[in-house]
Amino acid sequence: MTAPTSHPQSPQRTLSRAIVLGASMAGLLAARVLSERFDEVVLLERDQLPNGPLPRKGTPHAVHPHGLLARGLQVLESLFPGFTRSMQDRGGLAGDMTGDVAFEANRERFAASRGGLQALAVSRLAIEAELRARVLARPNVRAITGVTVLTPALVASRIEGARYRDHDSTLVHELPARLVVDCTGRGSQSPRWLRDWGCDGVQEERVEIGIGYSSAYFRRTGSLAMGPGLEKVAVFGAVTNAQPRPGVLLAQEPGAEGTPRWVASVGGFSGDRAEATLEGMRSHARSIGSPELIKVTHDGELLGEVMRYQMPHSQLRHYERLRGMPHGFLIMGDAIASFNPIYGQGMTVAACEALVLQSEIARSGRDVNTRRFFREAAKVIDTPWRVAVGGDLSIDSVPGRRPFAVRAINAYISRLYRIAPQDPVVSLAFQRVVHMIDTPAALFAPRVFWRVLHARHAGARCTPDKARPLAPGPGL
Ligand SMILES: Cc1cc2nc3c(=O)[nH]c(=O)nc-3n(C[C@H](O)[C@H](O)[C@H](O)COP(=O)(O)OP(=O)(O)OC[C@H]3O[C@@H](n4cnc5c(N)ncnc54)[C@H](O)[C@@H]3O)c2cc1C
Repeated sequence: MTAPTSHPQSPQRTLSRAIVLGASMAGLLAARVLSERFDEVVLLERDQLPNGPLPRKGTPHAVHPHGLLARGLQVLESLFPGFTRSMQDRGGLAGDMTGDVAFEANRERFAASRGGLQALAVSRLAIEAELRARVLARPNVRAITGVTVLTPALVASRIEGARYRDHDSTLVHELPARLVVDCTGRGSQSPRWLRDWGCDGVQEERVEIGIGYSSAYFRRTGSLAMGPGLEKVAVFGAVTNAQPRPGVLLAQEPGAEGTPRWVASVGGFSGDRAEATLEGMRSHARSIGSPELIKVTHDGELLGEVMRYQMPHSQLRHYERLRGMPHGFLIMGDAIASFNPIYGQGMTVAACEALVLQSEIARSGRDVNTRRFFREAAKVIDTPWRVAVGGDLSIDSVPGRRPFAVRAINAYISRLYRIAPQDPVVSLAFQRVVHMIDTPAALFAPRVFWRVLHARHAGARCTPDKARPLAPGPGL
């Protein structure tokens, strides 16, 4: 890492520098893309960045399970060729999303198939460590760590750099730049900065989900396997009013001491959170009813402590609607949209926003068209946000208005949940939407619509035997 500097920069260098605020997922993705066009990209980060997949204070969520959607994996692979292979080298497990990953709703397991959606079970810490290593290895990218960003520097209607304070002194530095990208996450100060610069208030949507998670790591051993494949899989559950508690079990690469792990997480809406104890997790797992989740939380060897995370609301800031956004200033990642984590969308949306930025700089060069960027980013965010909000509003305890369209779609989805356990076509169509490969319109395509409306549904309970068809195929 490079030490902070307060030396004046030569104007020539200034012209081709981009600054990224925050060096987590969105910041690293932004830096990766910006390094294609800018002479220098500087990441300003509050934490000292670890040299591997280790937790840090600025991202407390990173130790909780992070599922990577199939679309997210595609984008990461395109921006970081060989990413999947590197994650397997770290001990991550690759597979097929509808073959090796179990998905259930109302305690019924969706029909399995080999639908070709690539899955990767690996920790968020490992994903971030891999991206960090690759981004910082780029010759024109550096990180200034252990500093707090105070504000981007506005000159007339243009952002021309950023001010930050280093933690070892009270010195305030100003680093000039042509573009500044705010990737400081959910707690981003952009709304306040914009108000200070005289812009209108940013419109914000919120859904009061009151979600609370308890997560823990367990030793992953052969004896815990419920079937031939379950050493390798993830199990995810949809939430419904009949079973409103989110639960997930995800295989993880070995930890520092070489132990293969599961990470399990259970939670609830509107304050229905599990106690941050093993017994609290077990009790939630039993009510969720997923056999593997129950087995691992009851019989598995706990590694470390039970950890808690709470999120009172999901939030979406409509920067695309704002008038007077200064030139040279962009925002990405959770700083724009912070989703209910149970849908696993945040990293994928940040990756898709990076593609928007990439095409914007391919079009405009270093003079990024701010309005167009926010407009295109909003299009990327719109569908996952609607999917998440629709899911949240299907739970009665979540407050919020439920217009007819939301009620109608939720009625259709709840019927789909009853069909998908016996119908691999419906199951795969649903997963392709969840994984952001297809738009929700695909669920209303004639061949899916007809099956959902006309099929009889018998239901397949989540028993270990039912889990057996999820064994991985050749090559896993
Ligand atoms: C419990 C939980 C579970 C989740 N599960 C999933 C999942 O399964 N799948 C998925 O795709 N997504 C998941 N997410 C969302 C995902 O973590 C985020 O979308 C993703 O991390 C992108 O975040 P970001 O980079 O925008 O912000 P963050 O990860 O919050 O990073 C912000 C960075 O900015 C730095 N920073 C903040 N302020 C300053 C400052 N003033 N000066 C300098 N640096 C600063 C911080 O230290 C940090 O490094 C989950 C989130 C939570 C909370």
